Amino acid sequence: MKTFDKQAALATTVADPRWAAVQARDARADGSFFYSVRTTGVYCRPSCAARPARPENVAFHASAAEAERAGFRPCKRCKPDQLSLAEQHAAMVTAACRAIEQAETTPTLEQLARPSGLSPFHFHRVFKAVTGVTPKQYATAHRSRRVRNQLERGASVTEAIFDAGYNASSRFYETANQVLGMTPSSYRAGGADSEIRFAIGECSLGAILVAQSERGVCAILLGDDPDALARDLQDRFPKARLIGGDHDYERLVAQVVGFIEAPAIGLDLPLDVRGTAFQQRVWRALREIPAGSTASYSEIARRIGSPKATRAVAQACASNLLAVAIPCHRVVRNDGGLSGYRWGVQRKRALLEREAQA
Ligand SMILES: [Zn+2]
Repeated sequence: MKTFDKQAALATTVADPRWAAVQARDARADGSFFYSVRTTGVYCRPSCAARPARPENVAFHASAAEAERAGFRPCKRCKPDQLSLAEQHAAMVTAACRAIEQAETTPTLEQLARPSGLSPFHFHRVFKAVTGVTPKQYATAHRSRRVRNQLERGASVTEAIFDAGYNASSRFYETANQVLGMTPSSYRAGGADSEIRFAIGECSLGAILVAQSERGVCAILLGDDPDALARDLQDRFPKARLIGGDHDYERLVAQVVGFIEAPAIGLDLPLDVRGTAFQQRVWRALREIPAGSTASYSEIARRIGSPKATRAVAQACASNLLAVAIPCHRVVRNDGGLSGYRWGVQRKRALLEREAQA
């Protein structure tokens, strides 16, 4: 029968560097090993505050499972079979970070704290202690990282914002300077370029946005939601500095609105038409369709000398930024059907009916 060799056990324990950690109750050693006490039958974490054991009764174990296999029970005081407080905090904060990253909108502090069972205040303190930032700062940093990645991959500003979970992009624009160091559009373009003045008004077709560069009117956008029009403009001119209209500018908008209401009178303003050579050809052909008549996509394709390019003609119509001024609403299907319209088929119908009556 094997007898307990007290002297040998004492020598083994004292020679082990882990014994110093146990004597010091060093919490930094928690998790890296456990120790058992032969006389009590329990095992502990190095930091356990229980009465110190005599070294000849101590053995070391790499894991809690190993200590249990050797026949020891977990100490009720330091609960070595459960996560340490530091580990619990780390797990809790990790879960909160994942929740922030996956949420559509940033969870509230209360929502983040709930699974941990801590008060929001306590949770906030623990989160900050573990990560060095507050949950809010973490969420902001995560979102701006996502927006930045998206923009670098070439996504539109609106896409990037919505993908990053900003539920209202106006909120993003408010914080954009802080987050990116400049506005999203100039970030994507790598810097500022031209200035574009714009204003939003109302016409019989709904909201209307008129934008003008140094060269001329560069966008006439129609829609239901003025904010969406402004975002669309920002997306279409990512390099430009957009400036909300001043008083003089309202006159231009009134002029364009007058033209929208009665297209036959024509728009006597310089246009700044930006597009590929092919698009420019299509748009020029569209401007030659008189008010009150229509043309099919394949007719336009023939007129520009590319009879097979019907689909590309349709795409050029869909890319038109100058509603009514470049009358893409006058292009219809071969069978006379209305087909699509960038600004809604209802508006297309209204425009065509109005022009037919004039
Ligand atoms: Zn213990």
